[in-house]
Amino acid sequence: MAVFDARVSEIIPRTCCVTSFRFVADRILPFQAGQFLQLTLKVHGQDQSKYFSLSNSPAEKNYIEFTKKMTGSEFSKSLAELKPGDPVKIKMPLGVFVLDKAAPKHAFLSGGIGITPIRSMLKDAFDSRLPVDMVLFYSNRTPEDIVFREELETMAKSHQNLKIVFSLDTPGACPSGWKGRCGFINAAMVKEELPDYAERIFYVCGPPAMVKTMVDLLQTQLQIPDSHIKHENFAGY
Ligand SMILES: Cc1cc2nc3c(=O)[nH]c(=O)nc-3n(C[C@H](O)[C@H](O)[C@H](O)COP(=O)(O)OP(=O)(O)OC[C@H]3O[C@@H](n4cnc5c(N)ncnc54)[C@H](O)[C@@H]3O)c2cc1C
Repeated sequence: MAVFDARVSEIIPRTCCVTSFRFVADRILPFQAGQFLQLTLKVHGQDQSKYFSLSNSPAEKNYIEFTKKMTGSEFSKSLAELKPGDPVKIKMPLGVFVLDKAAPKHAFLSGGIGITPIRSMLKDAFDSRLPVDMVLFYSNRTPEDIVFREELETMAKSHQNLKIVFSLDTPGACPSGWKGRCGFINAAMVKEELPDYAERIFYVCGPPAMVKTMVDLLQTQLQIPDSHIKHENFAGY
């Protein structure tokens, strides 16, 4: 792990309210898909730091990327004002929320912005041609909120070993024409979509309340042992 200076290289809007930030540095440190970094930038002249999961795969090695839900916070406003070439400080790699590469079957439960480390893990599995079977449950409020939607759909079309279950927890009914699941991810949905759920390693990522609900569901309703559950809490939401 190290702290180093980096410069903004690209800013990519993903949805109305989610943006990816890319950085270059003289030496980009190796990392494992799923790990996170600490970003320090000037907010009204003072250094402020926050944690973000890396959303690029280690094979996308010319830059570092994280993807943030843009809130009304001062930190978000300072991020939104960044321009290519602007300096930041990065500390990385951090964390142990990484793919268990020895296991053949994996399942990811994610909500909203919690997709970021999972996008990195899925891409890494394909970039490294890992012989793994993966199923992603990804829940959002509306279809427009699905981050990386096009890329995830393309991944699932081109790789037989990835199945994606999109689910919408829109208040009221799902929009007409929606082809995915409706409602929060629950035990019945997991059992129906994933008959071999007991054989899988589960990865849960999202805001703390979502992570707690999903981990409880896995432990109490699906009897998944703790050794088969990995989770990352996006503390701060
Ligand atoms: C290991 C780890 C990985 C993480 N990875 C990611 C990631 O990949 N992507 C990501 O987006 N986050 C990630 N987070 C969370 C991130 O670190 C921040 O906590 C989060 O982005 C909220 O920061 P903020 O500055 O937007 O809001 P904060 O200032 O921390 O405020 C918290 C909440 O209050 C609200 N709020 C604050 N100020 C205002 C205001 N003026 N007006 C309206 N609402 C306001 C915001 O809606 C926000 O949700 C991660 C956290 C951890 C611990």
